[in-house]
Amino acid sequence: MIIAIDGPAGAGKSTVARLLADKLGFAYLDTGALYRASALKAKRMNLSFEESPEIRTMMSEIDIRFEGDRVYLDGEDVSEEIRTPQVSHLASVISAIPSVRELLLPLQRRVGHAQNTVADGRDMGTVVFPDAENKIFLDASLKERARRRFLELLQKGEKNSSEKEVAQEIKIRDERDSSRVAAPLRRAVDAVYINTDKLNIDKVLEKMLEYIVL
Ligand code: C5P
Repeated sequence: MIIAIDGPAGAGKSTVARLLADKLGFAYLDTGALYRASALKAKRMNLSFEESPEIRTMMSEIDIRFEGDRVYLDGEDVSEEIRTPQVSHLASVISAIPSVRELLLPLQRRVGHAQNTVADGRDMGTVVFPDAENKIFLDASLKERARRRFLELLQKGEKNSSEKEVAQEIKIRDERDSSRVAAPLRRAVDAVYINTDKLNIDKVLEKMLEYIVL
């Protein structure tokens, strides 16, 4: 069984997806981490972020693995490095390249079909798992998403950006993710819509469990 969760940056997808997976005894698939790790690799290789034979070769050789909540890129633990604002930006740029999406597709389906999975991303319900039994679209206002992301960065000790800058970064990323040709961020027609502006994490989980059919 697949529970597909999509939505814009900072809507709380990964937090609730992880909790939901724990609660149900499902695996958790963080597809954003795949795009983040791919972006980190392309940056390290100094590749240009556009469709090219070099990007395709890189993607056909890349080795991304999950162990618990750690992410390994070609054997190296990059869990922290892929969460920086710079990598967030580069992940959004690289994710618009069709061959990148194409080459990450089988990996996502393999993981999802091997076990009961909660998968979060932008195209879970529309492209990767269109037949998912349960689809949820998590949303929140830009202001609220920026506030949450800002607090998260502060907690991590990142004090370089203001809340306004975080809002701007999220806005640009959402616009790029929604307007790209390849698998844009979009609510699947059969996805349940939840706005989390006025809900805490427990309430979001409660609402999701109300809708999910096991
Ligand atoms: O979810 P997260 O913020 O980690 O995703 C980082 C970026 O990866 C997103 O802004 C988006 O561009 C891309 N992404 C995607 N498709 C997914 C998951 C993430 O295009 N399924």
